[in-house]
Amino acid sequence: MTCIAHNYKSFLFDLDGVIYLGDSVIPGTKETIEYLRTLNKNIRFLTNNPLGTTLDFVKKLNNLGIVAFDSEVFSVGKATASFLVSEGFQDKPVYVIGSEGLKSELRAQGICIVAELNHLDATAVVASVHYDFSYHELMIATQILDQCGILYGTNRDAVRPTVNGKMPGSGSILAAIETASGIEAQIIGKPALPFMHAVIRSLPASSSTPVIIIGDRLDTDIQAGVSAQIDTALVLTGVSTLNDVKVSNLQPDFIIPSIASLTHSVP
Ligand SMILES: [Mg+2]
Repeated sequence: MTCIAHNYKSFLFDLDGVIYLGDSVIPGTKETIEYLRTLNKNIRFLTNNPLGTTLDFVKKLNNLGIVAFDSEVFSVGKATASFLVSEGFQDKPVYVIGSEGLKSELRAQGICIVAELNHLDATAVVASVHYDFSYHELMIATQILDQCGILYGTNRDAVRPTVNGKMPGSGSILAAIETASGIEAQIIGKPALPFMHAVIRSLPASSSTPVIIIGDRLDTDIQAGVSAQIDTALVLTGVSTLNDVKVSNLQPDFIIPSIASLTHSVP
């Protein structure tokens, strides 16, 4: 029997389906996070949602009664900014199709967002879901990509489930840009490695391992952990079910009913 809370130094939590479901906190979350803090564990909160800023997610967590700090929360926007900096794009003009949340995350790390008038100066295109996506943006992206050929996508989710039904996601917008330009996007968000590397880079070098990711989806969270060669725990409070595990070639190291089980002994 293992107590996951005791056996790892760093805990990477997906948000939706692990910590909360929509606007409701999952029972036991607050106590589990507080217990990990008493053990001086490193905690990171990860989300592929490209619409909000880090601060939006910090506020959401705090409003649900969960203590979380700016430095612990990684929206895919923050991870995209960190990736662009690591790839040498700081101070180079980049064209961005995405939410104001994404743009502010990029500016916060010194990424220069090109004005439309000077769009042919852009050295890369970053694309993501936003509700004002237009033919005009698609045209500009196509012209830039004709010159620079570098396209990054925050994530490839085709749709986003919402209370109002399915909404087209970043993957749908990327498909339009990829079709028009003939350029395939490199993806930053889970399950791709740039997100995981940005989060792992943020952990203290001296006391970060072993690391475990806790998620509710096999195809994003568990795949991300496997690709990054860290341990994985699937919670059954979100998307993936035990039946999904049975038919998947992705096998998490732990399958637990919910986040609360991190502090219990599990097989
Ligand atoms: Mg999730």
